[in-house]
Amino acid sequence: MTCDLLIKDTIIIPMDGRKPFRGFLAVDDGIITFCDEGECDLEADEEIDGSGYIITPGFLNAHLHGDFYVFKGLLDNMPLREQYHKTNRLYDLMNEDAMVLSRTLAYAEAVRAGATYIVEHSFRNPGERTIEPFRAVGVRGAVTLDISGLESGLTDLLVENGIDVFINAPSEEDFDYSYLKDIAEISDRMGYKVYAHVAETTWRIAICEERFGIGPIELLHKTGILRRKPVLVHACWLSNRDIDLIADNSATIVSTPVSEMKLGDGVTPIPKLLRKGAKVALGTDGALWNNGADILAEAKAMVLVHSLNSTPGAITESNALDALTSMGAEAVGVEGIGKLQKGMNASFVLFNANSPEICPIFISEKISNLESALIMSAGSRAIDSVYVCGRKVMSDGDIILSDTLGLLEEAGNWLMSIGGRIENILKE
Ligand SMILES: [Zn+2]
Repeated sequence: MTCDLLIKDTIIIPMDGRKPFRGFLAVDDGIITFCDEGECDLEADEEIDGSGYIITPGFLNAHLHGDFYVFKGLLDNMPLREQYHKTNRLYDLMNEDAMVLSRTLAYAEAVRAGATYIVEHSFRNPGERTIEPFRAVGVRGAVTLDISGLESGLTDLLVENGIDVFINAPSEEDFDYSYLKDIAEISDRMGYKVYAHVAETTWRIAICEERFGIGPIELLHKTGILRRKPVLVHACWLSNRDIDLIADNSATIVSTPVSEMKLGDGVTPIPKLLRKGAKVALGTDGALWNNGADILAEAKAMVLVHSLNSTPGAITESNALDALTSMGAEAVGVEGIGKLQKGMNASFVLFNANSPEICPIFISEKISNLESALIMSAGSRAIDSVYVCGRKVMSDGDIILSDTLGLLEEAGNWLMSIGGRIENILKE
C-alpha cells in the first residue's frame, strides 16, 4: 500500500474525542488514510519527519468579510452605528477587481493563521470571479448569497468548484416579514443553510422590537428560519428565552470577539450557550472591525473576554480549540473537516513544536499544557505550514500559490488611486 504523504512520529491533536498522541498521519488523494498512535508501514511519495511538529485539524474562520480587508484601519475608534454610513460608502468604491484583490489578501492572512475553511459573508459578489480568491490561496470555504444571487446561476458554479453556499438573511434594520418567510421557504426547498448577523447591538434589537413587537430571535422563530438551523453571527444580546430557542432549534453561533470588543458591541453569552448544548464557531469578521484575519488570535480573545466578563475558565483553551475545529465544523454544518481521523479531509496545521512561543511542552498521563500552548502562547508565527485537502498551501509564512507581496503592492496602489474619494467619505 502506498500514499501521497506520510508524516512520521509527530504529536497529533485529533479533536475526535481521543487525547493528543504521538503517532503517524498518512494522506492519499486529499483524504486521511491513517491517523493513529504508533507506526504506519505505508510507503509514501513524500515523507516528513514530524518529530518537531504538533498537528491540529485546519481551523475554520466562520465569519469574514474579505471585501473590507483593504480598508483596514480607516474607520477605527467608533461604534458600528456611527461608521455604518461610511462603511457602505467605502463598499461602493469597489469594483470586481478590487473585491477579488481584497478577498485574496484576506484569505492569505487567514491561511497564515491556520484557516483551511473560510466563510465569506458577502453582500455583493464579483460574479464568476467569486471563486478566484479561494483558488489563488488554495483554501476551501463558503459564500453567502441572497435570494437573487441564488437564482442567478452562480450557485452551480460555486458548488462545482467546491465552494459551499449559504442563504444570506438581512440584519435587523432590513428585516421584512415576508422576505424572512421567503428565505425560510427557499432554505427548506433548496437545502441551503441560512446565515445572518443577529442581535449584534442593542440599537439593532430596538429597531426589530419597535417594528415587530418582538426581538430578532423570536422573529426568526416566528418566520420559520430558526427551525432551519441557521448560523447566527455575533448574537451578543440574548435573553435566556433566546438561548433556549437557539439551542432547542439547533441553531448555531459564530462569535467574533475581537470585532465585538473593538466596536463595543457586547459579549456573546458563549458559556451559557455551550451549557445549553448550542454549537459555536469563531470568525474574525471583516478587517475594518478586526484589523486582520488571524483566527488563532480570535481563539485567545474568546478565552480572555469571558474570563473578564465572567470568571477565569468560563471558556477554556479546550473550548476555544473545539470552536476552531470540530465544534466549529458542526456549527457551520460542514462535514469531513475539523477532525484528524481516517476518512476525513486532509486539512491540517503543522505547528513548530520547537518555537520559543510553544516551548516547553509538558505532557503527562493526566495533565498537559498542549492546548494552552497553542491557544494562549503560539500565535500564528509558530505555524510552520498549512495543508488543505492534502496540498501544502502555506509554508514558513508564505502563501505558496500567490505572490502576496505583489498583491499588497497592488492594493496599496489602488487605495492611493482613490485616495481623494476615501478622504471625502472619512470627512463626511
Ligand atoms: Zn459581519
